Amino acid sequence: MINTPNHEVSSKLKCSICRTDINDRTMMYQSSLKLGIICAMCKQRFTDEEIEMIIDMFFALGEYFGARDRSQFSIKDIIFEFAVDLNEGKANFHTQNVRMWHKVLTYGITPREFLEELSLYVEQG
Ligand SMILES: [Zn+2]
Repeated sequence: MINTPNHEVSSKLKCSICRTDINDRTMMYQSSLKLGIICAMCKQRFTDEEIEMIIDMFFALGEYFGARDRSQFSIKDIIFEFAVDLNEGKANFHTQNVRMWHKVLTYGITPREFLEELSLYVEQG
């Protein structure tokens, strides 16, 4: 009889936020409300509240944290897009806010980093 190979793939766990493989199960965290599993890095870079929000967002809109090239991130573009869509009545504030955060996160930018960049941008006028 042929031995069926032990498929590691099926037992491989991925972080619900950044999709990193979680090899060490002692280094994983279960999010409190959802079924998400979080890696140690994400546990560290996000607050518990953010984790729930982010899992929801990626579940609804797809993609993941750091899916896009961070060097391509432009806070100016993000703000511009946000403002234009609102102006044209394409989206309400809440929807647009969610979309903006989703985009920011796909670039691998944490809410804290984004708010820092935003305040710098605002200061520059
Ligand atoms: Zn992660």
